Amino acid sequence: MAVDPVITKTSLEGLPKIAEGKVRDLYEIDSNTLLFVASDRISAYDVIMENGVPSKGKLLTLLSAHWFKLLPTLIPELRTHFLTLALPPAIPQTEHARLRNRSMQVRRLKIFPIEAIVRGYITGSAWKEYQRTGTVHKTPIVAGLKESEAFPQGAIYTPSTKAEAGQNDENISISEAAEIVGPKYAQKIEDLAIKLYTTARDYAAERGIIIADSKFEFGLDVDTDEVILVDEVLTPDSSRFWPADTYEIGREQMSYDKQYLRDWLTSEGLKGKQGVKMPEEVVNNTAEKYREAFEKLTGQKWVDAVRV
Ligand code: ATP
Ligand code: MG
Repeated sequence: MAVDPVITKTSLEGLPKIAEGKVRDLYEIDSNTLLFVASDRISAYDVIMENGVPSKGKLLTLLSAHWFKLLPTLIPELRTHFLTLALPPAIPQTEHARLRNRSMQVRRLKIFPIEAIVRGYITGSAWKEYQRTGTVHKTPIVAGLKESEAFPQGAIYTPSTKAEAGQNDENISISEAAEIVGPKYAQKIEDLAIKLYTTARDYAAERGIIIADSKFEFGLDVDTDEVILVDEVLTPDSSRFWPADTYEIGREQMSYDKQYLRDWLTSEGLKGKQGVKMPEEVVNNTAEKYREAFEKLTGQKWVDAVRV
């Protein structure tokens, strides 16, 4: 089998690049449409690693596309920015092999500058804050929860700011989120985020995966005043996926996402440092975990998914 080249930088002749995120590069197809290209870059603690993870961009794109097709069938009022996985005519044939399966055409929208995070289980930064102050995103939470336990009141909405490049996102309260986007849109975003999380959580639970938390982004269709789901969705980059069969309350979970990389960075004292090159073992383990999550959630073998 041919080895997939790792793509950490993209450039396209013919289409202007309008933005470069930590993972995705955005190209303009026309004033209403973007080509969203996921590279193999990986970031942790808001820093991009020097080397990439093979096929990661394809995996993020194909998993997001899976959800973009599935979720509107489960949540009828949901609108998304997804248009198609097909490449636009402006892309020459010679580029197709490199871009196929890692690119999607999306509607270009005005993005709300908050991250709509929903948490079903207490872990990560929320667990740290709770141990210190009994709160999560400054909101008091029932006492006596153990690490990785499900919030007894159900999923909670814990927004954060969407920081500029090089800055860290900051946890904010629901009323602070309303000040940023306005109360009308804030409520809509919260309702959609909770519905997305609970719908995906139940779907994943049937496939042996616990979605502990997830981050969504939304944009506005200014013509119809509709709030639209954008960006990537329910991938190991934007969510914590835990295997259900080894789940146990009272400890950290091993997970299908960047946890392996985060743990390695922490143990090496490299957390938040620039210019870090991951060793092969970290790259391979991360790739393997992402792939396992993809196969469980889509019911498709990875080799079949990328054969197209
Ligand atoms: P950010 O913290 O801003 O999300 P990032 O480094 O995570 O940055 P990436 O996920 O790599 O960025 O790139 C995706 C970028 O494209 C994000 O800034 C996201 O807000 C933006 N985006 C997503 N969907 C759309 C859309 N439909 N129209 C315009 N911009 C979009
Ligand atoms: Mg992002």
